[in-house]
Amino acid sequence: MNRSHLHKAALSAAVCAALLAAPLQSAFAWGKCGHQAVAIVAQKYLQQHDPATLKQALDILAWDADGDIKAVPFADVAVCADNVRRGEQNAKVECGGEDLHVKNESQPWHFINLVIGTKYPENAKLETNAQGGTCPGKHCVTGEIRWAVHALQDPKSNAELKQEAMIFLIHMVGDIHQPLHCGSEIDDNGKSNFGGNGVKITRWGSLRPDSFSLHSLWDNVVAFRDNCSPSTLADEALAGLAGVDTSGWNVNDLHAQVEKIARESYNIANEIVYPAYHEVQPKKGGAYEIVDPNAYQAKMQPIAKKRIQEAGVRLAHLIRMGLHPLNQTRPGQPGTDRGNRSK
Ligand SMILES: [Zn+2]
Repeated sequence: MNRSHLHKAALSAAVCAALLAAPLQSAFAWGKCGHQAVAIVAQKYLQQHDPATLKQALDILAWDADGDIKAVPFADVAVCADNVRRGEQNAKVECGGEDLHVKNESQPWHFINLVIGTKYPENAKLETNAQGGTCPGKHCVTGEIRWAVHALQDPKSNAELKQEAMIFLIHMVGDIHQPLHCGSEIDDNGKSNFGGNGVKITRWGSLRPDSFSLHSLWDNVVAFRDNCSPSTLADEALAGLAGVDTSGWNVNDLHAQVEKIARESYNIANEIVYPAYHEVQPKKGGAYEIVDPNAYQAKMQPIAKKRIQEAGVRLAHLIRMGLHPLNQTRPGQPGTDRGNRSK
């Protein structure tokens, strides 16, 4: 075995160990590392292109600890929204040095259940076509992003509300770029696999762990946890932007922007992620055998990294939309009503 083989074997072992540990963070898109990478890309992108907006955003996130202002980088709050999804309602959750409170009702705000295998016409409103058409009332990730941008735009929002809106925006823009947050399969009995959470990985190379899902695999596919540095991922994403025309990545109509991102994620799930699953394990009890993890990563990792890169650039754009409202955005759209926002 030469050096490179040894390195590969060591890497595979690390990957397997990381995946065995992965269920702890299942359903948390991109995991902590990926979410922080998105946040770092956005912060550095704003630093390069619009430092005045970055300062405004950081002022919103900063905590006032009895007159001592604590600066909070985007990455420090990138996973807070996941931490308030579960647990005892209203229990305290630390976020960037201060407390948020558990909101069980926030669980559906992280995804949109588009149904794999469905052809959504170009002009179809995805929210009203999501499984059960539940988004306008129940608040999918698309509505949550709009809520956050509108809360930042609204002159009536107080400092606390803007802070929470910024925290949720930083997280949800990461979530909506994870393909499996926008695509679920529905079986013949009408049962959803909940964005791949119901698909168990029963084989990963020579190991046969049975404790993680397709969804948690995708949370980690960008770079496996033990081997993941958010700043390295972010720097790679930013370096990859050199010479790239990103003008088509953003549109100034907020509703169109979130639908565009959700549709992209859905298309990746529908055309790449689920077909790869069915190719090797056609409908066998919702289980998935990945015989060659290296080949799987080689195929999927570039897609995941691109999504992280796009998420960072779009997060910067959405923050600018929130802090510098354009006429094209439409405050008062569905999604503005999130009920009682007290922390
Ligand atoms: Zn989330």
